[in-house]
Amino acid sequence: MTLTGELLIGAAGVLATAGTMTAFNPASGELIEPEFALGGAAEVDRAVRLAEEAFDSYSHTGLAERAAFLDLIADKLEAVKDELAARTSLETGLPADHLAAETLRAAATFRKFATVVRQGRFLQTAIDPAQPDRQPTPRMDHRLQKVALGPVVIFGASNFPISYSVAGGDTASALAAGCPVILKAHNAHPGASEIQGRVIQQAVAEAGLHEGVFSLIRGAGNEIGEALVDHPLVRAVTFTGSEVGGMALYRRAQQRRDPIPVFTEMTSVNPTFVLPAALAARGAEIGNSLIQRAMFNVGQACLKPATLLAVDGPGFQELREAASAEVEKAAARTMLTPGIHDAYNRNVQRMGECGATLIGAGAAPTRAWDGQSQLYEVTGDQLLAEPVLREEVFGPAVLLVRLTSVDQLLEVARAFRGQLTAAMHADAPDHPAAARLLPILERRTGRIVINALSLPQEVSYASTHGGAFPATSDSRFTSVGMGAIERFLRPVTYQNFPDALLPEPLREGNPLHLWRLVDGELGQH
Ligand code: NAP
Repeated sequence: MTLTGELLIGAAGVLATAGTMTAFNPASGELIEPEFALGGAAEVDRAVRLAEEAFDSYSHTGLAERAAFLDLIADKLEAVKDELAARTSLETGLPADHLAAETLRAAATFRKFATVVRQGRFLQTAIDPAQPDRQPTPRMDHRLQKVALGPVVIFGASNFPISYSVAGGDTASALAAGCPVILKAHNAHPGASEIQGRVIQQAVAEAGLHEGVFSLIRGAGNEIGEALVDHPLVRAVTFTGSEVGGMALYRRAQQRRDPIPVFTEMTSVNPTFVLPAALAARGAEIGNSLIQRAMFNVGQACLKPATLLAVDGPGFQELREAASAEVEKAAARTMLTPGIHDAYNRNVQRMGECGATLIGAGAAPTRAWDGQSQLYEVTGDQLLAEPVLREEVFGPAVLLVRLTSVDQLLEVARAFRGQLTAAMHADAPDHPAAARLLPILERRTGRIVINALSLPQEVSYASTHGGAFPATSDSRFTSVGMGAIERFLRPVTYQNFPDALLPEPLREGNPLHLWRLVDGELGQH
């Protein structure tokens, strides 16, 4: 695919109106062709108006037609897998084979949402038939289904440049719900964004859909994101990135004349609690495997297990030594952007200033934007006293916490803010302590893992990639997995309707053979 650097506004490629930018290879420091267009408020307005024009037809596409469109995007993503991985690797410093796998994950996500759409359960249809003879008042016929919210703005993430970016799960779930998407591309990978954007743009055209179903916008600075969040026709926003950025956009959306939901996924240290019997039995193994997991993507992952907590006693020294030996084996690797690299160095320095002791370091950096793996240690008292030590350090650093007792472990667990995930290692003798820890974790996290690593989130029906603030801005929803579609839907009740005017999923005789709740009974009736 030849990259043009244009913005993709509906079916059109649009040249710069607000200057240009050039992609950057963080491994070599070289600029990469071509120049990429930057847009402004006029392009935002054009893209959102097109999305609004597309909304009525797109949100009313038949389930089979919409599912076929999502499958088409999946086919096209698979077809560009190698080209997309190669370009993305140049722009991010991440290995091409990981990025090819990420492309396949993104394609699989579109296919899974195609299945969700075909099944139609996301519509959550419910029918309460009329009861004309009910006493003391008759009941009219009530029928409910979920409908799409409207045009959705999606901020692509920097750290998973495919599966959380242009062709990521946010886009797949919004399109599955029937919402047109305006994608705010992350400037860290403009070529990767264009390839993915063109794939979706071509699928829109081939599926015969309104061109406004998808647009891709890029701009300089905060203005473009602010203009998108402010646009009166936008109905929802998703964001993956920093707490500062996410909360700025969230607050902005709440200050609109008509506030809209902003689903942000921001920050998490994903604590791992090792209980005493598990520590004694498997301290070294836990220390070793956790560090390997934490260094994935150079530690630039929302699910990085950043904080490892254990009670000092049998197994602690083995855990500490294994973890620090694993860190010392780690090569220095290129971080995503100079900004993320510099923030990493500032944050590890701040950990040191807050009293953390460096107990292991990987190979020293040889290139400008390499991140050096580091393992720090603090006591439970230090962690309780210094909130900075409980905050995310985005990059290849892990904090080991030496606790005095199970009671202190529980106290520390209560001190954490909301988390995407938390893990515990617990053998049978640990179960009473695990049972005390569990409700503390439930209050704070969207996923609890036991005796395993918090591996990348499955895209499945039982997944939760959410959690209490500041992991997300709305703990009622997930941003990964089939439940992610619920962010873009709202219920509408049709009361006393003649069958001919009802939406097809709610008609008598169940023409789409959906699972429906009829008078409280779930079935294909
Ligand atoms: P970011 O700075 O929050 O930016 C994410 C996106 O939001 C970018 O497109 C950015 O646009 C836009 N944006 C941010 N603040 C904005 C504002 N006030 N108004 C309008 N638009 C705004 O995140 P990042 O660039 O990916 O990385 C920076 C830091 O975020 C990392 O060092 C890390 O700490 C954190 N992060 C965390 C996760 C996680 O999963 N936990 C993932 C990614 C990043 P511009 O680029 O044009 O400013």
